[in-house]
Parts: sequence; structure tokens; C-alpha cells
Amino acid sequence: MDAVRFERLKARVARELTPEQCVELGEVVQAAAASRLADVALARRSAAVSSRRGCPHCGHDDIVKHGRDRGGRQRFRCRRSGSSGCGQTFNALTGTAFTRMRKPEKWAAYARMMATGFKSVDDVKTSGLGISRLTAWRWRHRLLRAQALRQAERVGGVIEADETYFLSSYKGHRGWQNGNPPENRPPRYRGGPAINRGLSSEQIPVLTALDNAGGIIEEVLPNRAAIAPALQGRIAPGSVLCSDGHKAYVSAAVKAGSEHRRIMTPKKTQATKAVGGKPRRPGRLGLGHVNAHHERTKTFVNRQVRGVSTRHLPFYLGWLRALRRPDFSPEALIDEALSTLK
Ligand SMILES: [Zn+2]
Repeated sequence: MDAVRFERLKARVARELTPEQCVELGEVVQAAAASRLADVALARRSAAVSSRRGCPHCGHDDIVKHGRDRGGRQRFRCRRSGSSGCGQTFNALTGTAFTRMRKPEKWAAYARMMATGFKSVDDVKTSGLGISRLTAWRWRHRLLRAQALRQAERVGGVIEADETYFLSSYKGHRGWQNGNPPENRPPRYRGGPAINRGLSSEQIPVLTALDNAGGIIEEVLPNRAAIAPALQGRIAPGSVLCSDGHKAYVSAAVKAGSEHRRIMTPKKTQATKAVGGKPRRPGRLGLGHVNAHHERTKTFVNRQVRGVSTRHLPFYLGWLRALRRPDFSPEALIDEALSTLK
């Protein structure tokens, strides 16, 4: 529809519709938007770029429309004036996860697959979507970058914090094949065990802090010493932080002006198990939520996905967090990937 006719239509809608018809029209528009999910997200992003008028290359705000590309998308150019402005061209996708990504007609179907649970690249290949395994893998990581960054700025109230460990992995690293291994050890086949027993540098800590309002902080850390810095400034003052009593959590709570509670898990022996313990008092502080969360992440990463390279671990943790969000949808996946700049 051309611009003039569309303006007339909008004016007529505003003037002539009854309240019931407004509701009905809203539903029709929503259904149409859902079927053209990627196009709608793109249009929204284009409008945002035009109105914000910032260059994604240099941040300069003097931009002009600069024709359309082969796909019919609006192009922009950053105007050079004196020392400011870079003169480069861009479109609404430049600087987002979708930069130079092809086949826009398949994005919505792919996002739908990703929003319903884990699909292997082979599942995607055989689903008839018409993208290769490599494309599926690349698109997955592009879409998940926004999800990896999406977590609470800070947590508060009653907080449960703990860390879990994943074996450091270089899955897919070319060095395994060409005799230049990334770590001084033989490759682990099919999720084999660590070489060293106990907590060694082979074990990568993942810190999780959950609060009772659903806020979550989840960070893949280089080592245990990074726990305290990762929590710096992210615990609301006056909270109650529950942990296993590791000194990093105690000092994080003290620094934040919060209370720390050490949760002691009772040692269970054959004898105590046989007798059975007292039932747990409802409302008592514990680490049950964070333990359950770790159980789910382990199952997802190690069983469903069958292990990921450590450098991709934040993406998959973000994916699981997203899948458990009640408001998560293919639309949200695309919108968040479009609005998160690299
Ligand atoms: Zn520029």
C-alpha cells in the first residue's frame, strides 16, 4: 500500500471504528504481524534507526537516506563534515546480530525452532527449512549472543549463590586435527572425564546467583578467584545472601551491606539415610533453587547439547535461561537480537 492510501486508512480507522471493531482489528494486525515476524521486526528496527539517527560505525548523528539495497531495504549514509562523520553506508541491520545475514525469509521459521527447545543442527537440516548445518550453527550463535548478555544487573531480597563446574572444552578446535592442540592433553572423546581429580584448572566455574523475584546472574569465570569480582556491585544492599560459606560469597555480601547465611548441608551416611531425617521446615533458607538450576544446566549442556566448547558456554546458558522465561517467544528472540548491538 502506498503512503498516501495508508495515511487515509489510518485516519479512517481512527475516525470510524467502534470500540469492538478496534479490538478485532488489533487481533487481525497481530496475526498478520506474527506471520511476517522477521519483516515486522526489521521494519521496527528501520524506524528506530531513522528516528535515532546514529551511525553504527562512528556514532555520528548526521545521517541521510542513501537509496535501497538489492533486497529493497533502506540504506543510510553517515555524512562527513569536517572531522566528524565517517562517510560509510549502512542499513538497519548493521551492528546487530543480523549484520550481513542472508535469507531473511527463513529467519522467522528458524527463530520458531529455537524458541521451542534445543534442536541439533542435524534436526534443522532435516526439518526442510533449507539451510545447511553450518548456517544453522552460525545463526544459532548470532541469535544467542543477545541471550547471553541478558541477565539481571543486580539481585536482591533472598539470594542463593553457588558455583558449578564444567570441564574446560575446546570442542571443534582445529588444533586437535592438525597436531597443534589448544591444551596439553589428548582430546576427550564423547565427553570423557578430566585427567586430574578434584578441582583443577580443567574445571571452569560457572557462578549463579538467583533471587526470590526471579532475577538471575550467571557468569562463566576463568577461575574461582573471579567469583568476588563478578559479584561486585551486583548485590542489592540489605539482602540476605545464602551460600556454602566460601569466603568470596561472605566478602561479597559484606561489601554490598547485606547479610550472609552459610547453609550447612547435613552429611548423610548409610545409617542416617536408613533412619530418615526430620522433614524440612517450610520457608527455611537453603540452596535448593540454585542447586536445581545447576542440575538443569548440566543436563542441558552435557546431555541434550552433548557438550559445548567453553567459549560458547555463555550462549547455551543464555539459551536455557530464555527457554525457561514465560515471555520467551520467537518474536522476543528476533527483537532482542536486533536491539542488542555488538
Ligand atoms: Zn559514521
